Formats: sequence, structure tokens, C-alpha cells
Amino acid sequence: MPLKIVQAGELVLRQRAQPLTKTQIRSRDIQGLIESMRETMREAPGVGLAAPQVGVSLQLVVIEDKPEYTKDAPPDFLKERGRKPVPFHVLANPRIVTGSEERVRFFEGCLSLKGFTAVVPRSSSVKVECLDQEGEPRVIEAAGWYARILQHEVDHLNGALYIDRMHTRTFMSVESFNQLWKDKPITEVGKLLGFER
Ligand code: ZN
Repeated sequence: MPLKIVQAGELVLRQRAQPLTKTQIRSRDIQGLIESMRETMREAPGVGLAAPQVGVSLQLVVIEDKPEYTKDAPPDFLKERGRKPVPFHVLANPRIVTGSEERVRFFEGCLSLKGFTAVVPRSSSVKVECLDQEGEPRVIEAAGWYARILQHEVDHLNGALYIDRMHTRTFMSVESFNQLWKDKPITEVGKLLGFER
């Protein structure tokens, strides 16, 4: 059964989530939660989901960027964002150990802010340390869209949402975005709306 995705305003989205031990990760309860989160993310659909988004204050994230999500996107659009498919995987207790100084700006959304989007600056690459689905230590080096997903999900575990980091003047409904801004280069978006804040 897919779980209910909580929306901004729920306290759990603003709390620091609890870390997990290797034993906890391998337990039936957490493995079951991972399965439910996978199902919930796919049904949404989304490319990442953090446990607080299903009302559980644990440092657990699932990520998957399926090829079918981008099969109709123009190659230039994907290239600009560095977006490539990412197979399903689990991160527990993730920590960003290094993030590039270089920031990239793109529209970003969140399943817990349904119907809205905004331009959010993010490091273009990151190095993340975490435990995997078996509770084994892993180091992930990511760039492009995958790096953005990781930063977005790690924020969730620290009680942060993209609205804390966005250029506020670019905040808009997905409906307006699709009608007016979807095909505009990000530099033009900046010129027209302003990135000052
Ligand atoms: Zn989110």
C-alpha cells in the first residue's frame, strides 16, 4: 500500500530526523518501510522520497530516476541539467561531506509542496556518505540532477524544504510554470523574474 505523503505545515517536515543503526536498517520493520516508500515514490511519481514525507522522523531516503520519466524530454534539456537515469537505492543517515562551490539554478519541486515549483540554487556536485539498504557504509559522488536530488533529500532529514533555499521571486504554481516558463532558458527566467532573493 502506498503511504500518505504529508504536506508542508506538518511538524514532522520541520524536525531533524533520527539516525538508524545497522541492526535497525536490517530489521523487518525498516525493510518494510523501505518497500512502502518505494511504492509511494513510484505512485506519486517522484525521483526521491524521505521518511519524514510519509510522517516518519527517521534518516531514511529512497531515490530512483527511471529512464521512462525522461524519455520524452529534449536531449538539450536533459544535458543542461545533467539528468541521467539513477537506479533505485536507499540511503540511511546520509551526510554531505563536500559540495561544490559552483551553484546551478533550475526549477525544482517537492511532493510535500504539491502543485508548486521554484528556482533553487544547488551545488553542481556533491560527495555523500551514508549507509545502504543492508546497513553497509557507502560513499556516493554525484553530479547534475542526481546531486540536486541528494541535496533536496538530505535537507528533508534536517527539517529543511526547498522553499528555505529558493529564489522567492520564482515561486509559482506548476500550472503557471507549464503555461509560461517551462521552455524558457533559466537565464531568461532570472532576467524576467529576478534572482535577487
Ligand atoms: Zn521534497
